[in-house]
Amino acid sequence: MNAARPRIYYFSRIDPPAMWRDALAGQLGDDAFDFIVGPGCAAPHEIDIGLMYNLPPEGLRAFSNLRAVLSLSAGVNQFDRTRMPPGVPLARSVDSSLAQHIVGYAKAAVLRYHRRFHRYERDSRAALWRFEHPRLNAQSAVGVLGLGELGSAVAAALAAEGFTVHGWSRSPRELAGVRTHAGAAGLAQLAGATDILVNLLPLTDETHGILSDALFSQMRPGSFVINMGRGGHLVEDDLLAALASGRLEAATIDVATVEPLPAGHPFWRHPGILVTPHVGGITTAATAAPQLAENVRRAMRGEPLLNQVDEGRGY
Ligand code: NAP
Repeated sequence: MNAARPRIYYFSRIDPPAMWRDALAGQLGDDAFDFIVGPGCAAPHEIDIGLMYNLPPEGLRAFSNLRAVLSLSAGVNQFDRTRMPPGVPLARSVDSSLAQHIVGYAKAAVLRYHRRFHRYERDSRAALWRFEHPRLNAQSAVGVLGLGELGSAVAAALAAEGFTVHGWSRSPRELAGVRTHAGAAGLAQLAGATDILVNLLPLTDETHGILSDALFSQMRPGSFVINMGRGGHLVEDDLLAALASGRLEAATIDVATVEPLPAGHPFWRHPGILVTPHVGGITTAATAAPQLAENVRRAMRGEPLLNQVDEGRGY
């Protein structure tokens, strides 16, 4: 292992390796690092940095001298610590392009319900001309779960459009134009005041299964849920029951516990559910590379990483 020349192990089933190698070369210099493309790796003990969305099939336990794992995604729940060398720092990706994607998706999904496109899509198939008086943006209250990099961008964008916006985080936050809530009592307040719920929480032990009957039953009848977080946030049977009872009118599901969503899954073809194939947002090499390159430098110097995950908190 050469401290001056980082050895970077890359694994992705999504992005071609050249995309990330070139983006890093633009930041670190063309010949300033070795780039080893997984999943296989001849000398895992020589690797300094792991760069990936998910762990490779064999995990990273054999990578005994890793200085850092850099997640290419904003979420890090997929990094099973028992399959990594103990104590290796993990950083998540914070990328302005990702926030732009996520805001665009959230606005599209919220407006689809607010302007009743979900009903017109159905009426259109049935050749039904049913006029509904359009509502003003302020007449729809949107609740955003998670006010981090992505949730706060979504909340701010919706507030700027004139929606009534509530936001929920673990610690109290202030955000212009957004009614903020924190903790268990804050979640109940938000649920009771919300017509359209957007989930942008990280998946942790505390947030697992948070989109459940306990939450839906506090929401206004005929509300909407948009899950952009992770599949594990949602109790799927509770969603189906809430749709059947009319507590919820419809839901948009971008993420699932098993992806791709299996062929026979009840969400497919459900008239109240729109499934999208985890397209809320993806990290873009050009805009994410400066942060990744800085983390390569920091890891090589043994310094704390940018956006380093707090192992205890889980995000
Ligand atoms: P982040 O910056 O770490 O923000 C997380 C937010 O959630 C913070 O506001 C945090 O509260 C809050 N939170 C965490 N645990 C909580 C709890 N127990 N109770 C209440 N609030 C809690 O994360 P981010 O970059 O915004 O990303 C959020 C998530 O979006 C990712 O983890 C991933 O699951 C999802 N995502 C989805 C896609 C997609 O394509 N659909 C793409 C990227 C990311 P504090 O402010 O108090 O810390």
